[in-house]
Amino acid sequence: MSKPKIVILGAGYGGMMTAVRLEKELKAEDADITLVNKHNYHYQTTWLHEAAAGTIHHDRTRMLIKNVINTKRVKFVQDTVGSIDRENKKVALKNGEIEYDYLIVALGFESNTFGIKGLAENAFAIRSVNTARKIREHIEYKFASYNNDPDAKDSDLTIVVGGAGLSGIEFLGELVDRIPDLCKEYDIDPNKVKIVDVEGMPFVLPPFDRELAKYAQNYLESKGVTFKLSTFIKEATPEGVKVQKKDSEELEEIQAGTVVWTGGVKANHIPADSGFETNRGKIQVTEDLRYPEDDHIFAVGDVAVVFPKDAERPYPPTAQIAIQEAENLAKNIKHILHGEKTEAFVYKPKGTVASLGEKQAIGVVFDHKLTGKPAAAMKKVIDDRYLLMLGGVPLVLKKGKLNLL
Ligand code: FAD
Ligand code: NAD
Repeated sequence: MSKPKIVILGAGYGGMMTAVRLEKELKAEDADITLVNKHNYHYQTTWLHEAAAGTIHHDRTRMLIKNVINTKRVKFVQDTVGSIDRENKKVALKNGEIEYDYLIVALGFESNTFGIKGLAENAFAIRSVNTARKIREHIEYKFASYNNDPDAKDSDLTIVVGGAGLSGIEFLGELVDRIPDLCKEYDIDPNKVKIVDVEGMPFVLPPFDRELAKYAQNYLESKGVTFKLSTFIKEATPEGVKVQKKDSEELEEIQAGTVVWTGGVKANHIPADSGFETNRGKIQVTEDLRYPEDDHIFAVGDVAVVFPKDAERPYPPTAQIAIQEAENLAKNIKHILHGEKTEAFVYKPKGTVASLGEKQAIGVVFDHKLTGKPAAAMKKVIDDRYLLMLGGVPLVLKKGKLNLL
């Protein structure tokens, strides 16, 4: 009898951790496992704000997939997924197709521009190694041009960040570390550089502990960031953004050389485009992470949505949850192949830490609030813990952050 074919789409947190755990949970004779990803590397999205600001090189955030998975157990296919054909149990790839008996969709997130005019064309999003690299290069080019280009304007040195959620705040933290170095390198008076964050809510970090959010705001303001709160980005243009204060009719223009949108995320578009039933674009899965309409399809990470038992709100899209879902799913696939009962996914929150550059951070870890250096150290522990889970001590030694302490 031929072995069941397990296909994993996407090698982010959810896909990589599923692959690595399946390697451990299953014997070679249990199933053939294939991992499909558009790049030959896995990147840590949670470090991309650093690569985007240029405080770390983007190679620190990524690793070759073949160096992490055991390619004797998991076949890696570098290709781009086009669509999923559930009826024929096939996935169309840019360069062919692949058949499955069990499918794990882990295609992650996309930036959500909410249809705001000009945003997709004129603003950057922190989404991948490629977008992060482009943001870093763009900002550096603006600084390099300032003393060279006769048409350069002071506003070329203005950076607007759209949204003050965790991504926006973490990116601002990196920017305030990076700008002094860029000013030194390109002979620019630091007083000419403006960093403006536009946030629709009356405070930064809307879902976070208020005291810690205020700490982050005060710290970033002390480093020169201006927050425009209760203010919405209404349009992005090649010259900057148009914003509107709550309860005001007037649009204000902020001229800027760089606009980075961190105003929200949505699920990868492929499941919805392939005819999956979705909840706001996400595959709503059962408590064992299964697509209710097809027993052979599962989804993890930001492409999926899971409602905790009896809860009205789903779990948020985070790497922490994607990783835990992957661990649960690998066990469940083993149960299914062995004819056993599956286990419900139950999220075990460990806390949230947001970096504010290299040496500052805020966070709640197991109900303890942390700020400053201890929080920054905890953030590095969290980053390294993931590497440990994924590739053991050798990966931590190669890519980890704690050696920088
Ligand atoms: P992803 O990480 O998005 O991975 C999806 C993978 O699928 C990628 O490798 C992608 O290349 C691949 N892919 C996509 N489309 C295709 C296709 N068509 N064909 C083939 N491959 C494809 N969460 C936390 O818990 N802690 C944090 O500190 C944190 N920091 C963050 C910082 C930033 C700047 C951002 C933007 C997010 C952060 N998050 C954090 C959220 C976290 O990054 C996401 O929840 C997480 O990446 C979701 O993992 P995933 O595996 O579902 O998707
Ligand atoms: P988000 O949706 O959490 O935050 C977006 C912010 O943009 C919100 O504060 C929102 O009010 C604001 N906004 C939206 N539209 C706007 C507009 N038109 N004008 C001005 N402001 C606007 O998105 P995110 O920060 O990218 O986070 C995405 C997910 O990733 C979340 O689940 C988050 O928890 C997770 N994440 C976690 C960490 C961490 O744990 N350290 C870091 C980054 C992201």
